[in-house]
Amino acid sequence: MPAVTVESIRIAVVGLGKIARDQHVPALQANPAFTLAATVCPFGALAEGVAGFTTLADLLAAKIGVDAVAICTPPQVRHRLAAEALGSGLHVLLEKPPAATPSEAASLVGQAADAGSTVFAAWHSRFAAGVQPAREWLAERRVVSATITWREDVRVWHPGQAWIWQPGGFGVFDPGINALSIATHILPGAICLTDAELEVPANRDAPIAARLSLQTAAGAPIAVDLDWRQTGPQTWDIEVETDAGTLVLSHGGAQLTLPTGTRQSNDAEYPALYARFAELIRSGSSDVDTAPLRLVADAFLRGRTIPTDAFHD
Ligand code: NAP
Repeated sequence: MPAVTVESIRIAVVGLGKIARDQHVPALQANPAFTLAATVCPFGALAEGVAGFTTLADLLAAKIGVDAVAICTPPQVRHRLAAEALGSGLHVLLEKPPAATPSEAASLVGQAADAGSTVFAAWHSRFAAGVQPAREWLAERRVVSATITWREDVRVWHPGQAWIWQPGGFGVFDPGINALSIATHILPGAICLTDAELEVPANRDAPIAARLSLQTAAGAPIAVDLDWRQTGPQTWDIEVETDAGTLVLSHGGAQLTLPTGTRQSNDAEYPALYARFAELIRSGSSDVDTAPLRLVADAFLRGRTIPTDAFHD
């Protein structure tokens, strides 16, 4: 793909829901590499002072000179929208998960390569402050074992979001895939799934809890505990035992504790994510790591489903 020089990348945010409003719009408005040119949302929701369209097709037909889109919809429609954007020569940022299935993600990679466009799977948790130093520290140590505990209250974080419980909505893997995106980034070598249990409420199509057994390339076990029924304090922790002591990433990756001490930084995941997207567009390259998505698919393929109590909002 040839490198391109772009003064300011004109971008549209597609799917103006919670994450778009909380993170994408502010990050774009603060980044001079981008101009927020438009938003697309079925019911015409708007960001102040920005052109609004109800469908991506309407935006493309309007020919307002957009270079890129950020697809912030639920995952079930991400592939169709991304394919439509790539088909019109646009660069595409994919919110996590990059697609509803690994094969959908692979097809976008192929389409972007054919079109000479950038596609970026935006694993935002990998941009949490503690993650890169954790990766560097672990690169020089032998991992003995790891535990991932990602327990939160679905009623707090996903009120009224029906899509998370539908096929392709990922259930508890919607947050859990963030933990897997960090684990696959900081632990050396490929990770495989050896066992899984998925607890699926009687009245839903997606799991409310999951326990996974994973294994590093060197055979170190990783125990994963994902649960959406936690009330009170929430837990987003990864603990790694090594031959040189214990590493703990907590608060979703914002806080890193090593044998030498603890450091914590303010959240800057989305500004860093857009810096990376601009860099990819300017260098004419793509970045789509499907490893976290493949582990989720493996859990559905290999896991036992345990029916559990009906869930009521
Ligand atoms: P959300 O609040 O339900 O927002 C999704 C938005 O997409 C809604 O405004 C929805 O419009 C819109 N939409 C649906 N189909 C569309 C289409 N065909 N074209 C354009 N817009 C469409 O969900 P969310 O929490 O923002 O999550 C969206 C994605 O971001 C998910 O993949 C999630 O994993 C990821 N994410 C979420 C968070 C978070 O904290 N919420 C954090 C990081 C990543 P309608 O409501 O009108 O249908």
